[in-house]
Amino acid sequence: MNNTILDFDEHFHDHCGVFGVFGHPEAANLAYLGLYALQHRGQESAGIVSSDGTELHLHRAMGEVEEIFQQPGVLAKLPGSLAIGHTRYSTAGDKALLNAQPIMIDCNKGKVALGHNGNLTNAAEWRRKLEHRGSIFQTNSDTEVIVHLLARSQARNLSGALGDALNQVEGAYSLLVLTQDELYAVRDPRGFRPLVLGKLATPGGFAAWLVASETCAFDLLNAHYVREIEPGEMLRISKSGIESIRFAPEKQHQQCIFEHVYFSRPDSIIFGRSVNQSREMLGRLLAREHPVEADIVVPVPDSGVPASVGYALESKIPFRMGLIRNHYIGRTFIEPSQAIRNFGVKLKLNPIRGLIEGQRVILVDDSIVRGTTSRKIVRMVRDAGAKEVHVRISCPPTISPCYYGVDTPTREELIASSNTPEEICKFLGADSLGYVSLPALKQAVADTEGRFCTSCYTGVYPTDLVQLEVRESASNGKLEAPSVTIENEPAAVERPVAVERES
Ligand code: SF4
Repeated sequence: MNNTILDFDEHFHDHCGVFGVFGHPEAANLAYLGLYALQHRGQESAGIVSSDGTELHLHRAMGEVEEIFQQPGVLAKLPGSLAIGHTRYSTAGDKALLNAQPIMIDCNKGKVALGHNGNLTNAAEWRRKLEHRGSIFQTNSDTEVIVHLLARSQARNLSGALGDALNQVEGAYSLLVLTQDELYAVRDPRGFRPLVLGKLATPGGFAAWLVASETCAFDLLNAHYVREIEPGEMLRISKSGIESIRFAPEKQHQQCIFEHVYFSRPDSIIFGRSVNQSREMLGRLLAREHPVEADIVVPVPDSGVPASVGYALESKIPFRMGLIRNHYIGRTFIEPSQAIRNFGVKLKLNPIRGLIEGQRVILVDDSIVRGTTSRKIVRMVRDAGAKEVHVRISCPPTISPCYYGVDTPTREELIASSNTPEEICKFLGADSLGYVSLPALKQAVADTEGRFCTSCYTGVYPTDLVQLEVRESASNGKLEAPSVTIENEPAAVERPVAVERES
């Protein structure tokens, strides 16, 4: 049978979610539940490493969190009161179990496991350099560069070695590191990806420490959200309590604004702010910037819902769930046969004709990537009898790829990189199209100090290597490999500049 794989999810994808536990007798069970709450951050592989104080125990597999850890006996083989978990999204052709995390190593610093959310922008250069010096890489993952740099560090303790390694890499990392008796939680100095600290009462009356990509993982466990791990901060959690170590010089913060637009769950607090609050505000600002006479506001579910609520509240046009999403379909679907082909986006979304017929519809979504799915949705709404379809997008036009841990198509594939909103509107077959502006996006996340990364909307990147990488080849329009070499390996890094304790 000649099957076709449909991929109709045009959204960007975050690469990973991480969850850590220190000091709870059911650490692996908690890590499993934490990963379950973070499933939206990566659906293609997951893993947990636990520590019983002597040994590290690992289980990783391809698939979603539930199918991996609901297998009989799997969690029972992960004993101990410390654990880290990781859930990963990878691009096609890069789905090998080999690249699943956490990565576990036994090196001169002892037994160590790492789970990483983010993307290192100088990993390829370091990999070439380290291989030249004899390092043998086991995976394609940029995280392994950190492992090799860690093993090569001359520092006497692990926090020093981690600082050494991390001060030599560039880019985005929210990182969990587990040893036999310690948990480290580290965020890069620009703070691209989120990482939060929580606390949970244990059956023995003590407090267990939790670390997660998003606070929604704490809510599931009835844990208490304590605070963000700050950009440039390394938390060392041990039996003696928590040490806060500043391992790197301060840099301008570059927190990913798209976490608020799309990635994070709306019930999470990200970078100190409610995601739902940001999305509703985006909808309100979108209504102010792009008003239109219409009868109903319809979200593209699920991610367009909070912005639609905001648009409806601001415009006083009724909110209607005119599109219903099939929650049981994954990101891709294998069409069963030639004879019953071409379901396309209808597998995922279905309009309610009774709500849409004869109406002037404002269709709200969070982003347009290639434009092909949005075009099918507009056509679907028209076929359901809409008199007019006005598309409203709760972020600015996405013109440039992300190099900081988000899976994006190439610049050429992004429809807004080479088309004006008017041209895109025509391609979609809509009556009008409006994107929220960049100043409005910043206002929606309360960014008064320039703390957020907005590179995919501006094409201007905060890290040097990326600026070179994005040079496009004049001949074929493809991205050119960076012609950058690392000239000097940084000398021994500055030792931690500040250490604080909290209990
Ligand atoms: Fe987020 Fe876009 Fe910056 Fe990537 S480039 S970190 S998606 S804001």
